[in-house]
Amino acid sequence: MDFREPEHVTQLRDSLRRFVADEMPREAAQRWDKNDEFPRAEFQKLVALGVTGLTVPEEYGGHGPDILATMATIEELSRRSLAMAVPYIMCACYAGMNIMAAGSPRQKKTLLPRVADGSLLFAYGLTEPDAGADLASVRTRAARKGDTLIVNGAKRFCTGADQADYIYALLKSDGDAPRYKNLSFVLVPTKAKGVTVTRMDGIGMRGMGLTDVILEDVEVPVENVVGEEAGWNQGWPMLAGPALDVEKLEVAAMALGLATAALDDAWAYAHERKQFDKPIGAHQSVRHMLAESKTKLLAARLVLQQAAWLADTNKPCGVESSMAKLFVCEAAEEIILSCQRVMGAYGCVAGVDMERYVRDILVFPIAGGSSAIQKNNIANRLGLKRG
Ligand SMILES: Cc1cc2nc3c(=O)[nH]c(=O)nc-3n(C[C@H](O)[C@H](O)[C@H](O)COP(=O)(O)OP(=O)(O)OC[C@H]3O[C@@H](n4cnc5c(N)ncnc54)[C@H](O)[C@@H]3O)c2cc1C
Repeated sequence: MDFREPEHVTQLRDSLRRFVADEMPREAAQRWDKNDEFPRAEFQKLVALGVTGLTVPEEYGGHGPDILATMATIEELSRRSLAMAVPYIMCACYAGMNIMAAGSPRQKKTLLPRVADGSLLFAYGLTEPDAGADLASVRTRAARKGDTLIVNGAKRFCTGADQADYIYALLKSDGDAPRYKNLSFVLVPTKAKGVTVTRMDGIGMRGMGLTDVILEDVEVPVENVVGEEAGWNQGWPMLAGPALDVEKLEVAAMALGLATAALDDAWAYAHERKQFDKPIGAHQSVRHMLAESKTKLLAARLVLQQAAWLADTNKPCGVESSMAKLFVCEAAEEIILSCQRVMGAYGCVAGVDMERYVRDILVFPIAGGSSAIQKNNIANRLGLKRG
C-alpha cells in the first residue's frame, strides 16, 4: 500500500498555490465574499492552467479524466476562496462529468471541448420549493410538443444560475409514469425566454450566489435532453449514477480546503498570540484543540482520497463517496469551530478570514445532500434491513 500522492498531483498543487498567491490574495477573497461576486477575469486566468480539462478525455480536448487531480484543484482553490472553487466545479464537474457520463455522442462532441477551454458553466437545478432531499418529487414539468419541450415550474437554491450557460435541470418528463421512471435531465439555457433568475442572499459559499429560478413556458429543443432520445425518462438512474457519486466528493473537497485554511490560520495565531506571558499554543487546551484538528484533517483527507482513487480506477464508490461527504463535511465543521475558538474574538469579526470560514462551512453538511441523507445512503447501499 502506497499513501503518497502521485507526483503529477503534487506538481499541480504547487502551480495552483503559486496561482492563488499571485491572483487570489486574501483581500480579493474577502471582497468577492462581501460583494457576493464571481471573479470572472481571474477565473479565465485559472482556465489557462488547463485545470478544466481534468475531467475531459483527450479526444474532446482535455487531459483527463483525473478525479484525484480534480479534487486537489477544488481543495487548493477552496483554501483561499469558494468564489473560485464553485465556478470551477460548475465547469469541470457539473458540465464535464455529467456530459461525459450521460451525454449523447453529439452532446459530448459539442459541449466537452467547451469544458476543456473553460467557456461552459452549468448550474444544478435539482432542488425545488417543495423538493429538497426527496428529489424524485420534483414537479417542474417538461411537456413534449414535437421537437420542443415546454418547461414550467421553479428551481430553488440554484447556485450560479445567473452566471451559467445552462441549468442542468431535473424535470418531470412523464406525469403518468411511475416514480423514478418519470424524470429527465434537460439543459435549459439560462437566457431562454421565460427564465427568470433572482439572487438570494446566502450565509456562506458566496461569490457564485444562490438563486431562485422561475420557468414559465420555456421552449427548449428536445435535443437538449441529456442523452437525447436515450436519456428520456432516465433522469433518476443518471442522478443515482457514478457522476453524482463523484459530485459528493466535490463538496467534501471544498470542505477539506476550508478546514485546511482555518487550521493554518489558527496554528499561526497560536504561535503569535501571547496571554499569561506565553504563546496561547503553549496552553494545554489550545494545544489539544489544534492536535485534535490536525488528526481529524488527516483522516478527512484520507477518506476523500480513497474515494477519489476508487472513482479513478473505475471501481464502485457510491458508499465511499457518501462516507466522504458525511465525514469530511462534519469533521471540517468541527475543525473550523475549534479554530475559531483558538482565535477568540478575532475569529468572530468581519474582515478576518476565520469568520468567513465559519459561515462557509455551515452550508456543507446541508448542500449536495445533507448528512442525514448520506447516512441513509450508506445504510441502504450496505443493505441494512429496515424491518
Ligand atoms: C449553499 C447551498 C448551495 C446549494 N446549491 C444548490 C444547487 O446548486 N442546486 C440545487 O439543486 N440545490 C442546491 N442546494 C440545495 C441543497 O442541495 C438542499 O438544501 C439539500 O438537498 C436539502 O434540501 P432542503 O434544504 O430542502 O431540506 P429538506 O429536504 O427539507 O430537509 C430538511 C431537514 O430534514 C432532513 N431530512 C429530510 N429528509 C430526510 C430523511 N429521509 N431522513 C433523514 N433526514 C431527512 C434533512 O437532513 C434536513 O436536516 C444548495 C443548498 C445550499 C445551502
